[in-house]
Amino acid sequence: MRTPLSSPLLGRLLRVLLAALCLAACAPAAKPRPELTPEATKEAELQREFALESLLERQDRLNALGYTMITANEPLCRQRGRVRKSLGLTADYFNTRDSKEWLPVLSKKWGVGENTIVVTGVVPGSAAAKAGVLRGDVITSMGVKAGHTGKRLNVTQEMDDMSAKGPVTLKLLRAGKTVSVTIPAPVDVCDSRFVVRIGDAVNAYADGKNVIVTYGIMNLYSKDEDLAVVLGHELAHNILGHARKDESGKMVPSTPEKEAEADAVGLYFTARAGFSIENAPNVWRRMAAQNPAHIRGSLVHPSSASRFVDMEAIKNEIMQRQAAGLPLIPKPRVVPGQ
Ligand SMILES: [Zn+2]
Repeated sequence: MRTPLSSPLLGRLLRVLLAALCLAACAPAAKPRPELTPEATKEAELQREFALESLLERQDRLNALGYTMITANEPLCRQRGRVRKSLGLTADYFNTRDSKEWLPVLSKKWGVGENTIVVTGVVPGSAAAKAGVLRGDVITSMGVKAGHTGKRLNVTQEMDDMSAKGPVTLKLLRAGKTVSVTIPAPVDVCDSRFVVRIGDAVNAYADGKNVIVTYGIMNLYSKDEDLAVVLGHELAHNILGHARKDESGKMVPSTPEKEAEADAVGLYFTARAGFSIENAPNVWRRMAAQNPAHIRGSLVHPSSASRFVDMEAIKNEIMQRQAAGLPLIPKPRVVPGQ
């Protein structure tokens, strides 16, 4: 069964809703859900409000960290031809067909109705933030037709693409008033986006275009400098072209060599973005404690023990360069099979 979705944000909420249902009662023959009492219906709406806040909180953290990584490393990404423009905002398109359950919450928070585009996040310090765009602004005009073609729109990406052609002028509805904002100059960034995935699994991965990070890994690495090590690694997979699909559309499996390269280049990315890498190797120790199977390693992943040892060496190399005031450019590494 598929729900028609047009909003990535709502999509994430619905996916977790389905996952949660499955955890609670994944019986082979699903019985219809019992109707909620009026009190429970009210409580359900409140819980959805909490769930939305929780998602936005994590999305903000990930977007801020990710933005630091993709701006600081733009020169390295440019050498690989992997750059794009960024306004530094996320926007989602909602319509009333999306979900009856989530609509009251979205409507209460942002006035979501039929074909509404809402700014769901603004990265501090970005072009959008400097121009005065705020979360919750409803975009009534942005120079492209949205919502009428029936096709799914990735509004965030559309707007970033649009900004490459010149200043972007948005007509916004804010607290009932129309405001016009022009974002003059987008910023050049590494071509990778960051996506929160709802779920407890301690996991992060790269799909070539996005770095996907679960609640589980964000909770484990509550310090930004630790999470930045994971983001650096996954960003490196995207920029180095590791995460790609074969002719049949399947993801090409990783190899221990590619993982080692992503560890090395990724740690440079993290350091260049200004994060302390003093404790970076411990990130893999803590990962091993969560996933003991990684200690031995596999055909895809190197042993977390070798990773720790190798990371110590890379960390020392980077810190020596920092101390000597040398540029932080990773050494080219030969990776078979690329
Ligand atoms: Zn990896």
